[in-house]
Amino acid sequence: MKLSRYVVASPVISNRTDRRPRRILLSTRSSRVATVAAPTWDALTKGDTSVLEASSASALAEAGILVDDHADELGTVLEENKAAIASDAVLRHVIQPTAACQLGCDYCGQEHFALQMSIQRQDALLRRLRRQLEGGGYRDLAISWFGAEPLLGIKTMRRLSPLLCDLASDLQVGYSSTMVSNGMRLTPAIVSELEAIHRVCAVEVTLDGPEAIHDERRPAKNGSSSFARILANLVAVANDPEIGIELNIRCNVDRANADYVTELIGLLSREGLSNRVKLSFAPVYSWGNDAGAASLTPADFAEREIEWFAQMHNCGYELDLLPRRKPIVCLAVRRDGELTDARGTVFNCTEVSYVPTYGDPNRYAVGTLEHADRAQTPPFHAFNDEVAEGKHSQCASCHMLPACGGACPKQWSEGNSPCPSSKANIGQRLMLWYALARE
Ligand code: SF4
Ligand code: SF4
Repeated sequence: MKLSRYVVASPVISNRTDRRPRRILLSTRSSRVATVAAPTWDALTKGDTSVLEASSASALAEAGILVDDHADELGTVLEENKAAIASDAVLRHVIQPTAACQLGCDYCGQEHFALQMSIQRQDALLRRLRRQLEGGGYRDLAISWFGAEPLLGIKTMRRLSPLLCDLASDLQVGYSSTMVSNGMRLTPAIVSELEAIHRVCAVEVTLDGPEAIHDERRPAKNGSSSFARILANLVAVANDPEIGIELNIRCNVDRANADYVTELIGLLSREGLSNRVKLSFAPVYSWGNDAGAASLTPADFAEREIEWFAQMHNCGYELDLLPRRKPIVCLAVRRDGELTDARGTVFNCTEVSYVPTYGDPNRYAVGTLEHADRAQTPPFHAFNDEVAEGKHSQCASCHMLPACGGACPKQWSEGNSPCPSSKANIGQRLMLWYALARE
């Protein structure tokens, strides 16, 4: 047996009782955690497994931390990924019911305009989804409402949602949906409708800091502020006992707001949201623009994130510290994963529609609703094969690959490195996870 290439270790820690130095290990392939004595880890990294007693070796093998001497782990992980894509029974489709948005965020690469998806395009979308559901052996249809701001397309949604539910019911497949919203119209009345009519089970809203910094980054196009209204909506929704929707708050972080994140964590907690919402942080990246120029370095982001996690724990937020196996990296690699914008253009990626720098016609478009040719490999779709062929050497040699999947094929294609923060702070995440598990 040998040490799996897909194991990451914490720094050395000491147990409170016996004070023996040890490390916490995570198999990014099995998502299992184990602790070993620090000298044992040192021996394993040198290829020496003779230090292990038979029972320990067997437990580590069972956790995927030790593997067969001749195992081709990269090949197996990539084959598992491809098998998961081939057998995935959920047809995922992202719908942009409108091209309009009230906000003018400084890092947004989209161009917004007052267009709703026409009835003809809605019907063409329903026909396309029917064909895909019938031909793909799917068991579920999962819709994501996305923008621009999808709630400015609520009229379109009100027509489409019942038809989508009818389609799913007609074909005897399950139906669910989620939404990414800017939060401006996310009142309790709208959320109740989202749950009851549109069967939305989770919504994600972005807050980029306390009021002044958020409003600087995410002002309304008419110049007015947005923070107070979004926060009031979130608090009202969170306090409505009739509403059970999952609330996710995302904070996009770069050098301009990094020092204010702790304030946001405390503010949301004082508003009573810490045990009702999930809060996560994402680095600002280039979105067909140069927004990534203001990014923190990955190391700086990763270090700060651990401090934010610790503060979140003290405030009562739920933490998601350890990455799990991710065989399907994103929409782009799915069999029929697509996004349809309000113009009826079809993409297989969520970050390219309405982005003028990608040209007209958009160079990433797969086609239109009636003429999207999936016979040709769409952009980013062959990512796993490309890793196998050695095109993405960073991912091919990375111990995080099973849990990361390569993060974002589009970012790689544009020459950016999309590695998640966990690559840089997994050791600290493991230490925090261990400390919290023992509280
Ligand atoms: S390629 Fe990147 S941007 Fe496109 S859907 Fe996948 S993760 Fe998102
Ligand atoms: S994107 Fe980065 S962290 Fe993920 S597998 Fe590739 S190199 Fe590793």
